[in-house]
Amino acid sequence: MSSSEFDVIKKYFTFDHNRDDVKLAGGDDCAIVIAPPGKQLLVTTDTLIEGVHFPPQTSAEDIAYKSIMVNLSDLAAMGATPAWLTLAITLPEINESWLQKFSSQFEALLTEFNLCLIGGDTTKGPLSITIQAMGLSEKDKIMRRDRAEVGDKIYVTGELGDAAIGLHTIQKDITDATLLPCKNRLNRPEARVKFGEDLNSFSNCAIDMSDGLVSDLGHIVNASHCGADIDLSAVPLSLCALGYFKRYSNNEIDWSMVLTQGDDYELCFTVNKHNQQAVESLANKHQLKVTCIGEITNSGVMSFYNNGQKVEFSRTGFKHF
Ligand code: ADP
Ligand code: MG
Repeated sequence: MSSSEFDVIKKYFTFDHNRDDVKLAGGDDCAIVIAPPGKQLLVTTDTLIEGVHFPPQTSAEDIAYKSIMVNLSDLAAMGATPAWLTLAITLPEINESWLQKFSSQFEALLTEFNLCLIGGDTTKGPLSITIQAMGLSEKDKIMRRDRAEVGDKIYVTGELGDAAIGLHTIQKDITDATLLPCKNRLNRPEARVKFGEDLNSFSNCAIDMSDGLVSDLGHIVNASHCGADIDLSAVPLSLCALGYFKRYSNNEIDWSMVLTQGDDYELCFTVNKHNQQAVESLANKHQLKVTCIGEITNSGVMSFYNNGQKVEFSRTGFKHF
């Protein structure tokens, strides 16, 4: 590694922190962290590649934001509290202004979530960011895909489809200021970290929607060996999304766009009927919208209904290969 790469690490990827469970962060071959006794360590990793996970014109701040959030979203989906990150970054060149923007946004999120960047790797090549996020959880409070039970109600947080519309407006060069909120959802997904940390008291099963409801609920149905009935008329859409369908789609909601394109990073979770009230109060406390969109069945398949009519989806999420 040339000295300029060490300079980059020192200048842009070294941050203050106040976690006393970090014994050594950066500067040696490994970082040293101490997991508290009785807690479980949850580990996840996600890569963002230019042209695949974000369009080439995406700003350095948005890339930093999204690369952390997609990882925190995985921790949120299992109810873990974020603790540590590593960052493997591949840069086409050392662009100080880009690095400064990336680093500032990165630091703001580290502070917001009390996270420590404990190490990483810095290499040259086409722009790509890989983050590994580590979180902590009580042993009996982890939400898993294989824990849905027949009769559970199916909920989602927030609203679905905005990110898909945001991507569409970028790809089709639609410059309509009223659609900016959708573009913002694409570039700045909000991991439901605080809600997930509390939700694990009332739900055993959750997933974050990176690939779209059809694909991600499909993972729950497969892992839990159950089925699901979904009522499309209950699926929450934002005012921005409704405006888009009104103006660009003859007032017809493109359900395939909303449910199969992904990048929403909202949570889909299941709740036993006895816990519904508690979950809705919890959502209120977090000022987060949650919506019941269906129920877990024993049918073995996912069924989507729109005004009593069955709807089939051909696309099931973004496939890399
Ligand atoms: P090694 O060659 O021993 O694998 P490197 O030369 O790749 O180590 O990195 C030197 C130190 O800088 C390591 O402690 C590593 O964790 C840290 N580091 C490298 N890149 C980054 C990065 N992008 N963010 C944070 N820490 C980094
Ligand atoms: Mg290395």
